Amino acid sequence: MDLPADLNPEQRAAVVHRGGPLLVLAGAGSGKTRVIVHRIAHLVEAGAPPWSILAVTFTNKAAGEMRDRVERLLGPAARDVWVSTFHSAGAQILRREAEAVGLTREFTIYDEDDQLSLAKRILREANREADSASARDFLAAVDRAKNGVADHDRTGDLPELAERYRRSLRAANAVDFGDLLALPVELFQKRPDVLARWRRRIDHVLVDEFQDTNLVQFKLLELLAPPGTDLCVVGDDDQSIYRWRGAEVGNILGFESDYPGAGVVRLTQNYRSDGNILAAAAAIIAKNPHRHVKELWTQRESGRPLSVIYAQDERDEGDRITRALRELRAEGIPYGEMAIFFRINAQSRVLEEALRIAHVPYVIVRGRSFYERAEIKDAVSYLRLAVNPRSDVDFQRVINSPPRGIGDTTSDRLAAHAAARRLSLYDALTENELARIDGLNAGTRAKLAAFRALLDELGSVARSGAAGETTQAALTRSGMLERLKQQSVTALGADRETAEERYENLMELVGAAREADERFAEQTGDAATREAGASSPLLSFLEQVSLIGDADGETSADRVSVMTLHAAKGLEFDAVILAGMEEGVFPHNRALGFRAAPEEMHEERRLAYVGFTRARRRLFLSAARARALFGELKFNPPSRFLLDVPEELVEQSGAPLRRAEASATGDGFTIDRSYDQTHGQSGSGGYSRAGYTRRHASRTGRNLPSTAAWNASRTAAATVTRVESVDWPTGHTVVHPSFGIGQVIDADGNGPDAKLTVRFGSSGSKRLVARFVKRAE
Ligand code: ATP
Ligand code: MG
Repeated sequence: MDLPADLNPEQRAAVVHRGGPLLVLAGAGSGKTRVIVHRIAHLVEAGAPPWSILAVTFTNKAAGEMRDRVERLLGPAARDVWVSTFHSAGAQILRREAEAVGLTREFTIYDEDDQLSLAKRILREANREADSASARDFLAAVDRAKNGVADHDRTGDLPELAERYRRSLRAANAVDFGDLLALPVELFQKRPDVLARWRRRIDHVLVDEFQDTNLVQFKLLELLAPPGTDLCVVGDDDQSIYRWRGAEVGNILGFESDYPGAGVVRLTQNYRSDGNILAAAAAIIAKNPHRHVKELWTQRESGRPLSVIYAQDERDEGDRITRALRELRAEGIPYGEMAIFFRINAQSRVLEEALRIAHVPYVIVRGRSFYERAEIKDAVSYLRLAVNPRSDVDFQRVINSPPRGIGDTTSDRLAAHAAARRLSLYDALTENELARIDGLNAGTRAKLAAFRALLDELGSVARSGAAGETTQAALTRSGMLERLKQQSVTALGADRETAEERYENLMELVGAAREADERFAEQTGDAATREAGASSPLLSFLEQVSLIGDADGETSADRVSVMTLHAAKGLEFDAVILAGMEEGVFPHNRALGFRAAPEEMHEERRLAYVGFTRARRRLFLSAARARALFGELKFNPPSRFLLDVPEELVEQSGAPLRRAEASATGDGFTIDRSYDQTHGQSGSGGYSRAGYTRRHASRTGRNLPSTAAWNASRTAAATVTRVESVDWPTGHTVVHPSFGIGQVIDADGNGPDAKLTVRFGSSGSKRLVARFVKRAE
């Protein structure tokens, strides 16, 4: 059989390897994912039934991309290959085996919010602190337990509360994310007959990003593909970035002992990045101790140097980043081939604002945001109730939304009664039960009965299994649409817009549901699943909605992708900008300080390696001197990762790096360079850190500590020196005829021809020639 020419000999070896487990351990961009895709195609071409192949990866986005790539090689046959995330594979197994674990196949998957509501209820009932933070802690402990991470339970009653949580889930015919993996594992361990059935079905298992699997995921793989079977795992221990979520890098490093006799293939050629980018990435990761050192080289040329953007503050950073993006665009790189990565979510708002103001098209890769809107959650709750009326979290969410005159007192009475009788809320709505609840008058009882009738009615529509039709029915019969229609007529101003927007969002949801119907019809799917009636377009739509994760926004051909570094794993772009390269941002604050475990910093470093290696041709690192973060103004020194990049790899014109005479030591590291951001400015005039502080303070109007206190508090500070315009010093107040009063944040040149960047209160930052503004003083 012909193999495509664009596989190197090691890649070919991995593609054709047969007769037992295989490990591909290799650096970034060396073609690991490519090996998986070609291996699938090769298996099918060699006669393996597509549905006997299971390929797992971590995000829906990565799974979708993998499916597309396989389809390009195989055509329609690819549709029957089971390409999935771990969680959705677990969900599908559970659908098929629902009864065996005490669920019905209509079980509901509780997302984080649902879990939080449930956790709060449990904590409240146990007279424990029931705020969001406590509920999160509780859930994290439950999840760690499920993922096999031992925990010291500080209070002693965790096991009992966890058990209550579990019971409530089951009573609601619901599972949480952790269950999606833990339940199949438990089931397979208890029921060899069930496991045997699945093993007969799946002959080949392939896993991408294997370094990020946790204990439960590994167990599931071990059960489905024990030693001796065809299990192919690929990964890179240097890209292990989910330790904090229980990922076990030992899974990949210990693979050869868990799977004795496994074939091992190493790939050493990086096909993705230009030489300078690869060299910078290598310099970063080289500083991690105890590495499994891997060779990585490239045939590509050095390419352009890396660029450093050093901004005044986070807004200035946003402006400079958008400017850089536009320049890249002018150089011929489409927006769809550019990405901005950030370390912490709080950074995204300002970046987003800057992009919006500059009219740079972008997409925030944060898939859930649409599904987090109140109206969408309500609609989804109706759908979930239509298939599973016992889902209490959903029941509580919509019992009075849209308002139908069922107040909190009534809900509470109903809930108390249901709890006492160990019934779901829905089951407490029968005439019989209602009659036993004290203090309900006839009117209220009628309203409750009407709600039950509504759920039953939706239930009968849902039995058709059609996602579009059921969604439409849920929106209409619940009264949601009617209410928004009214509001869009009667409400004024902003309220009216919100009503209209919500209406449109709901229509969008109907559209998504119809798409799910179409997709389901297209898929020949696994014949066995279909015959067993284990799924329907509606169920798979709901599953898709619940499992959309942080990394699952649609990227698009002509939009800049904006995402967290964690979401960037496995992806590649022509140009990448890493924002917020500052100590305390990236590396994250939690990795700093003498109490932080050194492993935290190692993980941050791997994350930097992941970020750097996403770039094909251009890599920008940006940092800000001052940053408002979580309501505080911070002066973070430049990131150690920025300083680890060898000077000769960094572009001198944009942001020259200079050896500073001063070096300062902080928590275990040394900064021996300072950054000087001239951006082609002429003129002279020293710019001391103290001077900067004062100006910055006056500009932002925020309270700053005294210079001395500030200096003392920042032992790890890099000296900031700067050459700037004499005539237009930063922080200088100017007046513009139409934009009003603003402050100079950057100046290029002197006199009336100087090019200024001025921040105006409501109009944002503008680039102007100096003659169009007047000095304020
Ligand atoms: P990561 O560690 O980031 O997940 P990876 O090892 O999975 O990277 P791929 O994404 O499979 O790497 O490949 C990186 C890039 O190199 C892709 O654009 C891919 O098409 C290209 N590539 C891989 N192998 C070859 C090859 N033999 N010839 C040409 N291009 C290749
Ligand atoms: Mg990959």
